[in-house]
Amino acid sequence: MKKPLIKGMIFDIKRYAIHDGPGIRTTIFFKGCPLHCPWCHNPEGIKKEQEIMLWQDRCTKCGDCVPVCPHSAISIDREISIDWGKCDLCGECIKVCHPKAIEIVGREVTSEEVMGEIEKDIIFYEESGGGVTFSGGEPFFQPKFLEALLKECKKRYINTAVDTSGYVSKEILLGLSEYVDLFLYDLKIMDSKKHNKYTGVPNELILENLRELLKRGKRVNVRLPLIPELNDDRKNIEKTGEFLASLPNLKGVNLLPYHNTWVNKFKRLSREWKPYIISPPSREKVEEVKSKLEKYGLEIKIGG
Ligand code: SF4
Ligand code: SF4
Repeated sequence: MKKPLIKGMIFDIKRYAIHDGPGIRTTIFFKGCPLHCPWCHNPEGIKKEQEIMLWQDRCTKCGDCVPVCPHSAISIDREISIDWGKCDLCGECIKVCHPKAIEIVGREVTSEEVMGEIEKDIIFYEESGGGVTFSGGEPFFQPKFLEALLKECKKRYINTAVDTSGYVSKEILLGLSEYVDLFLYDLKIMDSKKHNKYTGVPNELILENLRELLKRGKRVNVRLPLIPELNDDRKNIEKTGEFLASLPNLKGVNLLPYHNTWVNKFKRLSREWKPYIISPPSREKVEEVKSKLEKYGLEIKIGG
């Protein structure tokens, strides 16, 4: 009997990635995340459904898309706009837009299709000590799809990493952890109320899951985004240092200075919530936070 196809929603596959774990990697970006951080670098990964991205800078205002829309959802004034209440993502406008100013983000794929992409670069993984990284969005938000891909990778001896917010049920996380060689684990804000305010979820589960993984001897790189005026205050840094120092078997901690080059993505997605726009932290501030965290006996690397 034929195996049932396992499908998932992704928004990108990046080959030759060098910042998503060791060596040369293929990164698979899952669509959908239970958090909605306003500083997210991949906001197209937050919503689990397909959506449209509008590139105003590519639009020539030729008007070709307007008559082909079966729901009269498109209008062009100073710029192109779509009435989201009318649009059903049929894709007709995309077919006629030659400058690619309208794009659908997100596609449903089978695990076999994704494995086909992953397998193209096996030779590079072997030579560089790389592998595949599942990122997003939140990979654990599509647990069956992630499970299928992790198991297929393991059958082929491909190194696996999962980039996660940690906001996932303990059963799912620990159940799949035997197929994960490395967790890239984000830690954002230590105060749970503040965490909830900015990300939409509290942080207790995230902290507990991190401890559980480390207790079981899993390899985890903790990633700390450093976001000015949001989590770079003395209290948060101290709480972060104390918590990380209390964890067993923790090896790597990466401090990731916030940058704002992704802000245009929010505009292209016509999001209802505002992106967090602020200047990146200064070099001095990053060094200051690094040395404060090192006082807790932690090994801190700047960047990921
Ligand atoms: S995707 Fe379809 S419904 Fe939506 S704006 Fe384009 S043509 Fe209209
Ligand atoms: S077809 Fe493309 S380039 Fe032409 S008006 Fe529509 S979005 Fe703009």
